[in-house]
Amino acid sequence: MTRLLLRNGYIFDGTGADPAVGDIAMEDGRVVQVGPGLDGDDAIDCTGKLVTPGIFDCHVHFMVDGDFSPNTHLNTPFSLNFYLAAERMQRTLAAGVTTVREAAGSDLGMKEAVEHGLIAGPRMQISLTMLSQTGGHGDSWEVCGAFMPGMSDPHPGRPSCIVDGPDEVRKKVRELVRAGADVIKCATSGGVISARSDPSHAHFRPDELEAMVTEATAAGRFVMAHAQATEGIKNAIRAGIRSIEHGIWLDDEAIDMMLEAGTYLVPTLIAPMGVLEAADRGIDLPDTILDKARAVVKDHRESVTKAIDAGVKIATGTDSGVTPHGENLRELNEMAKLGMTPGQVLASSTSVAAELMGLQDEVGTLQPGMAADVVVFAGDAFDVTNLGSRVETVIQAGKVVA
Ligand SMILES: [Zn+2]
Repeated sequence: MTRLLLRNGYIFDGTGADPAVGDIAMEDGRVVQVGPGLDGDDAIDCTGKLVTPGIFDCHVHFMVDGDFSPNTHLNTPFSLNFYLAAERMQRTLAAGVTTVREAAGSDLGMKEAVEHGLIAGPRMQISLTMLSQTGGHGDSWEVCGAFMPGMSDPHPGRPSCIVDGPDEVRKKVRELVRAGADVIKCATSGGVISARSDPSHAHFRPDELEAMVTEATAAGRFVMAHAQATEGIKNAIRAGIRSIEHGIWLDDEAIDMMLEAGTYLVPTLIAPMGVLEAADRGIDLPDTILDKARAVVKDHRESVTKAIDAGVKIATGTDSGVTPHGENLRELNEMAKLGMTPGQVLASSTSVAAELMGLQDEVGTLQPGMAADVVVFAGDAFDVTNLGSRVETVIQAGKVVA
């Protein structure tokens, strides 16, 4: 068995310890030793380089790629999008992201294609779709009466996402678990990239969310909530939902509730920026979507700043798909801009994200026994503002994959 060694790197191990220069030895897909003076059969010299656990992105959508114009969706053959997604997954892995939570779009076959080694991609937890009330963020009904293809239109691998009332919710969670969902995603408010929903409105009533969390918990799944409206955020926290995605309008009470309940925030700071950048690239988007994106950017950053200052658990997520895949590490720059230290940003992108996903015993830290997912960045500067351009080597389960 070959023993791969990363030699003399500046190691951020995700355990909360200060970064220190040392070696990492890997065998059979696992980290076996971390420390100074180790040996190995094959060694990669990491002198002057930063070494971290594989980076997590807790919010991606592989079925879109920075272009959600109606024209693109309508002119993409159904099966072509799966081949396109395979390349997006590979691009994500090459960016240093070795684990993702897929927040609507990808189905079980895509996850299994990675597990079977058919395509290169990050480890995945999938939600399949995003449960939405009629007219909610995942409702793909358009004013012409047709349903827009994209992330939430139903197909044999991806159940319909529209549910109203606790009974429908209960049945749908069971259906999603049957279809392979590792996590249940819902929209407790409207959103930006749905022409007919209002991000400031709370969606689903408490009895519906309670049924959702009860059913998911019974099946050993966590629930994640797209939640932008203040009331939608609070309803989600009260129902015991594990993470608030986006969190655009967090007031002090919502932040206190998150601290009390231990709820995670997945900021996706680059998402609203990405909508506006897509328009700048010439992608044809309805005015209803652009107006909403412009309206939320400033409030979003203020809310996330308040949450960081208050000590809410932050897990890195980008909403990639809204932005092109592979630019995931831009999010780390934005988190640092809002006041997080490099150590906090990296913890949010590794160990904290692993805890959010319930994977802390498998990935997220560099310790003996953990899966050997590791990223080597050029330069040992403990600075996260330009990590995206510094990715040198990506190792997944002990194999160099990029
Ligand atoms: Zn999303």
